[in-house]
Amino acid sequence: MYIRKEIREFMEKMPKEMKLPKHWRKFIHEYDVEYNLLIKHGKEYECTNCGKYFYSEQVEGKGCWDICPFCHNQYDVRRSNLKNYFFLYDLAIVDNIDNKLVLRYFEVKRNYNYKKRRFEDNVVEYARIVPELDIELVNDRFVKYMAFERVYHTKKIKKWRVFTGMYGLSQYYKGIYLENMDEKIKGTIYQYAPLTEAVMYLGNNKTDFLKVLEKAKYPSFELLMKMGLKKLALDCPENFNVKGNFEKRFGIEKELYKFMKKHDISYNELQVLQLTKRANMDKIQRLLKISHSNIEDLRRTSQYIDLIKLEEYSKTQKYFSIHNYLDYVRNLEKLEIPLTKKKLLPENFIEAHDISVSKVKIVGSKVLCRKIKQRYNELEKNQYNNDMFFIRPAKTLNDIKDEAKQQNNCVYTNYSESYAWGDTDIYFLRELKSPKKSLVTVEVRNNKIRQKYQGGNELVTEEQKNFLNLWEKQVIQKVA
Ligand SMILES: [Zn+2]
Repeated sequence: MYIRKEIREFMEKMPKEMKLPKHWRKFIHEYDVEYNLLIKHGKEYECTNCGKYFYSEQVEGKGCWDICPFCHNQYDVRRSNLKNYFFLYDLAIVDNIDNKLVLRYFEVKRNYNYKKRRFEDNVVEYARIVPELDIELVNDRFVKYMAFERVYHTKKIKKWRVFTGMYGLSQYYKGIYLENMDEKIKGTIYQYAPLTEAVMYLGNNKTDFLKVLEKAKYPSFELLMKMGLKKLALDCPENFNVKGNFEKRFGIEKELYKFMKKHDISYNELQVLQLTKRANMDKIQRLLKISHSNIEDLRRTSQYIDLIKLEEYSKTQKYFSIHNYLDYVRNLEKLEIPLTKKKLLPENFIEAHDISVSKVKIVGSKVLCRKIKQRYNELEKNQYNNDMFFIRPAKTLNDIKDEAKQQNNCVYTNYSESYAWGDTDIYFLRELKSPKKSLVTVEVRNNKIRQKYQGGNELVTEEQKNFLNLWEKQVIQKVA
């Protein structure tokens, strides 16, 4: 197998023997505590953790446990003739090789010694992850076949190789050694990231540390952690990598920072706060609930009505949802009914909604037609062609109908409304020499081509694909 030069060099720099951290044994013992048993001799029970005896009535066997009155831990009960028993669990430490952060995995095998009636540890290192090089190294104590992983606890030899299995290594490690973290990350790309704090925040129990590292790469990670906005730091620091003042970075006034910190605000909550600008967590969470966390729907709704008012109103209504509310307001628009306060907040929402639905069916598509024409005017600037193809937005309702008929696809039924209301953009790709003949229907959302449809399940050709990619890059994303 060919191995990249930088990886070869890295592996040569890896020392033959690598040290273990200072309080490694103590660290293991802390995790060991939960892996013990109560050994039953008649009515007398011995705790393999603290070695004390007590009396109990609990029977032995699977799922039968008791609590040791001395160390207060809960363990399974087994009979004193128990010979073979072991527990397996993993631990991890960070290390630094050639200024690259390395995550080292260890398996702890706790074997029951029936003569001493105690558990004894055998600890083996079997894998090293180097996130910066995007590699997983394993040694000859590790075997993986399909989904089956095994670590041998007998052999002494250690030879490291790059792991190339189809699926990556499973990461079950219970905890990560944190004491030397700050020292080990010095010189690595993570050196300013408060990683210890991040792991402590997540609880250092089966933490997905690689995901934390992924987030820690963003400069905003450090800033968000320090600001006490830990959810944002660990969920989506990429959304806050904006230079400039507070307002630019967070989209709200600085006065709201105290509130954000107090609640360790999540990204969804922050987006609602941006819309409502009201420091009230109950209201924010209720708005998320009635919109099923659909921020876009909330944003659209806020163009019609103050969200805080709507949240208060929703408490007086049965079966209220933002989705239905949007549907209702848009129906009013289609019916050209002025959006007065009374109409926006009807006494009985469900009834008003249902009436609007039946009326819209009768009135039909007059407003739809007008809105689609408006959309065409907005998007006209994105027209594009080369010497073979051209692409243009849908012009009219009939235009969409005609495309759907030719393509035999669902564009008309599903998309004419969302196109009219600006939720999605619909374009037609055609040949210059036959501009009326439908070829490919293209849907664009958030400045990205989301779907391409072609009639009769034919594939989009290589030429068409290239044309579309170019258009997406040069026109659609440039406009953004
Ligand atoms: Zn005990």
